[in-house]
Amino acid sequence: MRIGEILEAKASGGVVTITPDAGVRELIALLAEHNIGALIVSRDGASVDGIVSERDVVRHLHHDGTVINNTVAAIMTSAVETCAPDDDLDAVMSTMTSRRFRHVPVVDGDRLAGIVSIGDVVKHKIDRLQFERDQLDSYVHQS
Ligand code: AMP
Repeated sequence: MRIGEILEAKASGGVVTITPDAGVRELIALLAEHNIGALIVSRDGASVDGIVSERDVVRHLHHDGTVINNTVAAIMTSAVETCAPDDDLDAVMSTMTSRRFRHVPVVDGDRLAGIVSIGDVVKHKIDRLQFERDQLDSYVHQS
């Protein structure tokens, strides 16, 4: 299974991005409004300049409450691990597990094409298991 197929199966609506100079308050509002765990940081909506997740917010706030008045650039991760639409899902899943993050932006050429979360991966795996179970069930019960 390729990453591109996971993106196609997701409800469309584009990727939510935020600029590095936006405020942490705006970031929290966007995470809450869209009910998501991470945003891609992009100056122009096409490049990937960073990623910022709810974990970054919690970690930084724990150390310094005034970070709420800072910009996204102050708490984001700049060295972003990305994948391509042609990449294999299992390889991306193994990167997520070993690097301990739950989001990977998908880049097509040099343009942001989407984001894959651990939730998308788990949903796909469950759908696949359900399909295989149904196939085996009908095989066993056919007359
Ligand atoms: P997450 O598990 O995705 O909420 O992120 C945990 C930590 O990893 C946070 O510090 C994120 O900024 C960082 N992070 C999340 N996704 C990526 C990624 N694809 N590449 C690099 N760092 C990431």
